[in-house]
Amino acid sequence: MRKSGAVRTLDAPPYRIDEAIYRRFDPRNTIFGRRHWDREAPFYGQDVHDRAGERMAGQEGCADAGYSRVEFARARAAWTVADHFAGAYSWERLGEPEDGLADTPPEVAPADEMAATVRATAHAFGADLVGICRVDPRWLYDVTPATVRDAGRYAKAAVPSGYDHAVVMAVAMDAEAIRTSPGYAAATATGVGYSRMAFVASCLAQFIRNLGYRALPMGNDSALSIPLAIDAGLGQLGRNGLLVTPEFGPCVRLCKVLTDLPLAPDRPIEFGLWDTCRRCRRCAEACAAGAISTDAEPTLDVVSRSNNPGILRWPVHHDRCYMFWVQNGASCSSCIAACPYTPL
Ligand code: SF4
Ligand code: SF4
Repeated sequence: MRKSGAVRTLDAPPYRIDEAIYRRFDPRNTIFGRRHWDREAPFYGQDVHDRAGERMAGQEGCADAGYSRVEFARARAAWTVADHFAGAYSWERLGEPEDGLADTPPEVAPADEMAATVRATAHAFGADLVGICRVDPRWLYDVTPATVRDAGRYAKAAVPSGYDHAVVMAVAMDAEAIRTSPGYAAATATGVGYSRMAFVASCLAQFIRNLGYRALPMGNDSALSIPLAIDAGLGQLGRNGLLVTPEFGPCVRLCKVLTDLPLAPDRPIEFGLWDTCRRCRRCAEACAAGAISTDAEPTLDVVSRSNNPGILRWPVHHDRCYMFWVQNGASCSSCIAACPYTPL
């Protein structure tokens, strides 16, 4: 499955954290949280779909190319499972206990066998990539009752103790559709990715509960997906601020299940991404918002309140990115489309 022959496994993850600066991420600071409370943000009170009607009406009363009513209807419908399946990211076991599984003693197996079982099950539910890591507490969101109030769907509660392992899963998006970004067909691929995340994470969490353990399914909420994915050996962080995988480049969506089930972890990987990013800059050139750094070297500096500090990387200006989404009337994936690691 792994495409690149240049992938090396590592003993430690290939990122640098300045512990004197690093702070756990405050979930109020996601763009989607800030648009509800950050009155200084240029996008305060604005939704990504506010201009969808204008885009569908177009300049001359007919839709701009890629922004028809049919395409918008399809893009919105693609989110149905993610947005409307109430149990998708439930932290409780779903359903009635009449199957008897809840009362059965936990399944016991060596951690490497259990990891193989969980990996195979995640693939059976539709995950394209699966990795396992121990949970580094630095990646858990800094959640308090106050942050829950303002963070919206990004934090329901602090992760309780004992959830020591994460199963991190990537679902590949339709690269052909993503290449039509920033129109609605790319937004459809994104919505399908989010709905598949909800399906995969909820089913895997329920499977782990059925084995007699605890499991918390998560999308973008509650813990940082990208560093967990790096720890679990799925890829590296790119200039575009996204996880770049050897198999699908950044053309993936991430979800995870945190659990107390003992699992043998995978090892992080390195495939020369940062050497490529130093020279490449295609994502930055494709970004209509100027949100991606063109600097030769990564930095510890931040450029947006939505960056958490203390991580060496090329910081993405999320405010500019989201402002473009609002103007566009839809999400954007142009930095994914442009990446040479995205499948042709
Ligand atoms: S999603 Fe679009 S606007 Fe945002 S950083 Fe990527 S290319 Fe730029
Ligand atoms: S487009 Fe180029 S610079 Fe951007 S993440 Fe991909 S490889 Fe790195």
